[in-house]
Amino acid sequence: MGVSPGIGHGPAYVLTASVPEPPPGQSYPEGEADREKTRALAALRQVAGALEVRGDQAGGEARDILQAQALMAEDPGLIVGVKSLIDHGLAAPRAVYEAFGKYREMLKNVGGYLGERVADLDDIRDRVIATLDGTPMPGVPTQAERPFVLIARDLAPADTALLSKDVVAAFVTEEGGPTSHTAILARAMGVPAVVACAGATTIARDAIVLVDGTTGEVRLEPTDHEVTTAVSAQTAREAAVRSVRGPGRTKDGHPVPLLANVGGPADLDPALANGAEGVGLYRTEFLFLDRDTAPSLEEQEDAYRAVLEAFPGGKVVVRTLDAGADKPLRFLAPPAPEPNPALGERGLRLFRRFPEVMAGQLAALAAAADGAEAELGVMAPMVATADEARWFADACHAAGLPRAGVMIEIPAAALRADSIARFAEFFSIGTNDLAQYAFAADRQVGALSALHDPWNPALLDLIAAAVTAASDNGRECGVCGESAADPVMACVLAGLGATSLSMSAIGLPAVRAALAASTLDECQRAAVAARGAVTPRHARAEARSNLPGLAGLGL
Ligand code: PEP
Ligand code: MG
Repeated sequence: MGVSPGIGHGPAYVLTASVPEPPPGQSYPEGEADREKTRALAALRQVAGALEVRGDQAGGEARDILQAQALMAEDPGLIVGVKSLIDHGLAAPRAVYEAFGKYREMLKNVGGYLGERVADLDDIRDRVIATLDGTPMPGVPTQAERPFVLIARDLAPADTALLSKDVVAAFVTEEGGPTSHTAILARAMGVPAVVACAGATTIARDAIVLVDGTTGEVRLEPTDHEVTTAVSAQTAREAAVRSVRGPGRTKDGHPVPLLANVGGPADLDPALANGAEGVGLYRTEFLFLDRDTAPSLEEQEDAYRAVLEAFPGGKVVVRTLDAGADKPLRFLAPPAPEPNPALGERGLRLFRRFPEVMAGQLAALAAAADGAEAELGVMAPMVATADEARWFADACHAAGLPRAGVMIEIPAAALRADSIARFAEFFSIGTNDLAQYAFAADRQVGALSALHDPWNPALLDLIAAAVTAASDNGRECGVCGESAADPVMACVLAGLGATSLSMSAIGLPAVRAALAASTLDECQRAAVAARGAVTPRHARAEARSNLPGLAGLGL
């Protein structure tokens, strides 16, 4: 599945799973216990230091992740464990392996977000063992003579913190879907990516690989001619795409405003550079992922105002905190771990438990909007019923926020959008979660990525239901899930009646060009044809065949 468009080629760099396990019972020469302990401590310290340096170089969110890993490597309890195992006769590598094993089990049993940190712990363990054995460090090289195609089972943010386009020509992973970390990060970096590519890690190291992040094709040992043809087609495509400017509209002038998805003030420059007409989704929880307590009203107000000021005269839609599941917030969490966080107390549901956090956020938003030239809309995530929509809209109005909307990302809300429209001033369809819930497929599970394919006709039906209900009730209905960034899908969404499209900034130029190359009538035909198909593959092909203008863009 292609998830980040473009052509990339280069030698394969296959990220191998882990450093081999030191043999059970591995021992050291008699009388060398102290030397063995010194060796182990030095290796732990060296790894912690190297992780910190890497974090400082990367900065931002990556720095916090890597500093937390460095702290794990120097945990006093872990060091006591390693020393005691050495006293019991185990050599340093095996002692490190077993000491980490105990922590690993503990985290794994806790599950949830902490359970997912097991991979971080394994990474430190492998680095320490590689240091002790003098074998190559696991991980991705941060420099290369020639950009490589990075191939892995899946990639963690820590693997990719220091990577850039100069080093990585493309990503190919066995796991992952269109909304996985690899996909989001690749799009942000502007590097082509293909995910859910079974067997990719069996590709031989240094084999030349040609990756098409648009079609999802991964070709081994291409001829020079194939590479030149693919690269020149891509260059022509980029030039054609970049030549289209101005607000989003179809070939015959039907307006489809193109908006940006942002996670904080840092995303504003790329949004403006790619011609966003406003913000269709401001994910406010991204501002506070590392907090133990709710941020102050002043701090929130500043962060919200920065985004409003970037779009004077435009529209800015801010989503209230969507805590839980893939976006946990420590100050806004259910009281006990849940068996299925994606189906748990998350999003708007948590505001029922913490009404003071909702009141604070709405007050900060009202203060930020006071005197702003942008038009502010505030929307709630994870709305399932009309009652919830009414409760949220009432709270917004009481806080002095006139435009209260809801995300349509739960199938029940799409099916009963007509009732919800009585209370919500606007809708925004979140296709990432709508797919997750429509197909009962956790969006964090790579093996289920085929079910997250937005071209599944059942998903198109739910989108159509919501858009139709919005239009029947005179409400605007945008789409802000990752699917809006697929230029063919963007035309279908416009054809279904979406009133705006919001996406990662990098996706805007191609969507603008695709709309400008297609009439509204063609978009509508494409939507009908896609919904008439039986499989996602056919849905896309049917849509594409009704959009002849896209050929000129190489799409
Ligand atoms: C969605 O679910 O489609 C969406 C846009 O929100 P998020 O990806 O932040 O859950
Ligand atoms: Mg969502």
